[in-house]
Amino acid sequence: MADATAHNVGPIILLGPPGAGKGTQAKLIAQRYGIPQISTGDILRDNVARDTELGRKAKAMMARGELVPDDLVNQMVGERLVKKDCARGFILDGFPRTVVQAQWLDRFLAGKLFDNQRPCDPPVVVQFDVDYNILLHRLSGRRSCPTCGRIYNIHTQPTRVPDVCDVDGSKLVIRNDDRREVVEERLRAYDLQTRPLAAYYRRSGRLVHIKGDQDVEDVTHQVAKAIERLRNAPVGTQSGGA
Ligand code: AMP
Repeated sequence: MADATAHNVGPIILLGPPGAGKGTQAKLIAQRYGIPQISTGDILRDNVARDTELGRKAKAMMARGELVPDDLVNQMVGERLVKKDCARGFILDGFPRTVVQAQWLDRFLAGKLFDNQRPCDPPVVVQFDVDYNILLHRLSGRRSCPTCGRIYNIHTQPTRVPDVCDVDGSKLVIRNDDRREVVEERLRAYDLQTRPLAAYYRRSGRLVHIKGDQDVEDVTHQVAKAIERLRNAPVGTQSGGA
């Protein structure tokens, strides 16, 4: 394949329930194309850790597994997307999560929200489909590195030494919201507020469904294939499987 970091990639949206593998795939795809991964969950957690005004507003809702209000998240994403490193493209991981956020993003990409902002291509949207019981199993095994943010799973992606990050040796942690009661609330929020986005994006013709319960490398390969195929597709004409 030609050098994937040399050309414009445009916006990529990863959709799917918590535990579907969005974070893992976003990191791999970001690396492959040399574009930033923008995880709204990571940015919010960082704000909570730094005790910023946004972090204080979001903290209790995140702890309950509920969504943070659209206007707060949209503003946070807007401030991130106008940075220079997004010029060739970016991967949104965990955003949009509501139809209101998707409509806001459409206006942003059309160049209508900020002065001097150039319009972007419409997004390629990848929807990961994973069975509910597999999600629960995955989320219960998830561990993350508090230092580098790398995600592991005691069932499917274990570290070489149990509970220790392979990269920097930090002791791994379980995210507070990966506990069972909160996971169930997050999956409910997904069903009610985020699942309708697949229908929203299907109309654009740039939506692809990928089974998220396959090997990590197989999923990455299919995501990359879908991006290459759909990036230049005329809007509103095609969609489907990988
Ligand atoms: P994540 O790491 O993507 O699972 O996000 C963790 C939590 O951050 C979610 O359960 C929400 O409380 C909040 N969050 C992340 N992204 C969004 C978003 N796009 N809209 C609203 N809340 C969000």
